[in-house]
Amino acid sequence: NKPLAEVDPEIAEAVQHELERQQRTLEMIASENFVPQAVLDCQGSVLTNKYAEGYPGRRYYGGCEFVDVAEQLAIDRAKELFGAEHANVQPHSGAQANTAVYHALLKPGDTIMGLELAHGGHLSHGMRINVSGRLYDIAPYQVQRETSRIDMDEVERIARERKPKLLLAGWSAYPRQLDFERFRAIADAVGAYLMVDMAHFAGLVAAGLHPNPVPHADVVTTTTHKTIGGGRGGLILCREEHRRAINSAIFPGQQGGPLEHVIAGKAVAFKIAMSDSFKERQERTIAGAQALATELLADQSSGVSVLTGGTDVHLVLVDLRDSELDGQQGEDRLHEIGITVNRNAVPFDPRPPMISSGLRIGSPALATRGFTVEDFHEVGKVIATALTPAFEARKGELAERVQALVDKHPLYSHLGTPTPA
Ligand code: PLP
Repeated sequence: NKPLAEVDPEIAEAVQHELERQQRTLEMIASENFVPQAVLDCQGSVLTNKYAEGYPGRRYYGGCEFVDVAEQLAIDRAKELFGAEHANVQPHSGAQANTAVYHALLKPGDTIMGLELAHGGHLSHGMRINVSGRLYDIAPYQVQRETSRIDMDEVERIARERKPKLLLAGWSAYPRQLDFERFRAIADAVGAYLMVDMAHFAGLVAAGLHPNPVPHADVVTTTTHKTIGGGRGGLILCREEHRRAINSAIFPGQQGGPLEHVIAGKAVAFKIAMSDSFKERQERTIAGAQALATELLADQSSGVSVLTGGTDVHLVLVDLRDSELDGQQGEDRLHEIGITVNRNAVPFDPRPPMISSGLRIGSPALATRGFTVEDFHEVGKVIATALTPAFEARKGELAERVQALVDKHPLYSHLGTPTPA
């Protein structure tokens, strides 16, 4: 039982460098967050040794009495948190959760109608080379060209024309709330199941700051590592009538042994998500994203704008179509001053996806780090300046302002302080 640094110094060094990278930079990838030590404790625990195929109380292996306790707590807490009739906490990831839902409710060749990838959907919603796009007939809907918003009349028109078996609401890059009641009505009108993938906004739902899709949808999927703030993984919530189909689509339909150490971490994250401090953090997450949008919109002389003119959620979509910069250049500039974001195609993007004309900037990780709304205004000002022609002349000053924020909000300081860059 030697320490990692002794057994495998190369891996130990990579882990240490990643810790220091997270400590030293501003993490603004909208799908990322920082888990608390309690979740790290679960994920690094002896639960990883246990095989537990099956479900609590009905396993195919002996010795499951303690992992049963952990998994049942995760299930009960997920149901309580979101008001769901059933929860399956075993999906190894969000994409696998989605694939299992299709497997449970559809047959190959059936039609899925979801938001197109290039308009903010996720690759597991029907991308051509994803298993979803290969097995099912995909009828995508888009956002409107003028408003960058989903037009529910258009969703209804396409649904009536294509008659999907499954209507899918949910996104990876969209800054507004969805109208779940209308999605339900459209699904009912065409005889489709309604599935909602709330991977991005599950934390906002848990905090009561975003409409809850659970009462409207047949099935709701999510990841457990974005706004909800747990370790990497997936979760499926569904109506009681779909319980058997969903459970059997996960195991044995798609997975073998569940990751009980990860599931224990999910249970901890759900417990934390019921707290007042979590709600306050989610409020700061949204207010922080709105502060970023305000600063990015303050001076549009260099052609930088924000899709839909703002945000209701935890992310801002920067529109660089009228800027001299493309998404790649914007991402690189921010990286240079210590801010991590991802470039992102905007709807009707004239540039290729690997370059793109947008940036997706999120507030969850910095909100977890303790950023106040004022701090988010300061980050927004730094980013806005970095995206103007003044960048080259001012990048030293901008990098210093980033470091001042880094120093103001230490991260994982109990794991050690970073060596200076
Ligand atoms: N669904 C949505 C809406 C997502 O944004 C993502 C990830 O970004 C996923 C599913 C997939 O999650 P994972 O990366 O855990 O497979």
